Amino acid sequence: MPEKTGQPTEEQKTCSACGKPVKKLKRYYRNGKYYCSKKCYRKFKASQRQKQA
Ligand SMILES: [Zn+2]
Repeated sequence: MPEKTGQPTEEQKTCSACGKPVKKLKRYYRNGKYYCSKKCYRKFKASQRQKQA
């Protein structure tokens, strides 16, 4: 699992899928990570599954 050091997860402000800044009003929280939208969450999930398989 690639994890960036020096960045506390409690203050994550970027989408875990596309890396764009997540706005307060638009943040989508799933499995301990923030995404800018549900679309990105599914995208990220799908990409992880592909890497694992
Ligand atoms: Zn995103």
